[in-house]
Amino acid sequence: MRHSKLKKSLVIIVLGPQGSGKGTQAELLAKKFNLEYIGSGDLLRARKKKKDFTGLKISRVMTAGGRVATPVIFKIWMDKLEEFKKKSKLNGFIIDGSPRTILEAEMLEQALDWYEYGKDKKIIFINISPKESIWRLTKRRVCRRCGQNIPFIGEFRKLLKCNKCKGDLFNRADDTIEGIKKRLEWFETEVRPTINYYKKRGELIKINGEQPIEKIFKDILEKIKL
Ligand SMILES: [Zn+2]
Repeated sequence: MRHSKLKKSLVIIVLGPQGSGKGTQAELLAKKFNLEYIGSGDLLRARKKKKDFTGLKISRVMTAGGRVATPVIFKIWMDKLEEFKKKSKLNGFIIDGSPRTILEAEMLEQALDWYEYGKDKKIIFINISPKESIWRLTKRRVCRRCGQNIPFIGEFRKLLKCNKCKGDLFNRADDTIEGIKKRLEWFETEVRPTINYYKKRGELIKINGEQPIEKIFKDILEKIKL
């Protein structure tokens, strides 16, 4: 098996605009290499179940389509990394949805250093045009029960119920052209510099996201050379 060759602490970070299908690719990679998956969305949804100040505030902020502050995200993350340290068998993990900003990228570097991970790190950027992103986001759906995003790509387009929990699917209230354009603007001002940060370090693996899911996955496997 290919993944038996992996070093112990493989870390894969998947970046891309909303609608790029990075979550789908992250899951495929996690399965293929037997990696733990850290999705910021999943972590926040889990965290908001605890009804303390932060839990309730995450609920409010997420419902309003806002962003959860970096220190809050990092607290959850550090706890997760601490958990990983207790595992006797860990092939590595894959990060989906973070880092969003240069500040987060730098903090992540230090966090990985602290926990002695990230010696074997792959930064994948799934690129799609703003036009494609807008088109996909106006059509994507969300599961009412588990909160999973159902991208408007490949087989997912035909789903009538959530593929994971059979929950009902709906269109997000902020997935209007205006809401999407706002988020894309944010991507350009905040996330784009992060992508350039990894590019400057010579770590960025750029993938064309305007292809079928299987082809994108094939390109990733070819380029990460594991
Ligand atoms: Zn679901």
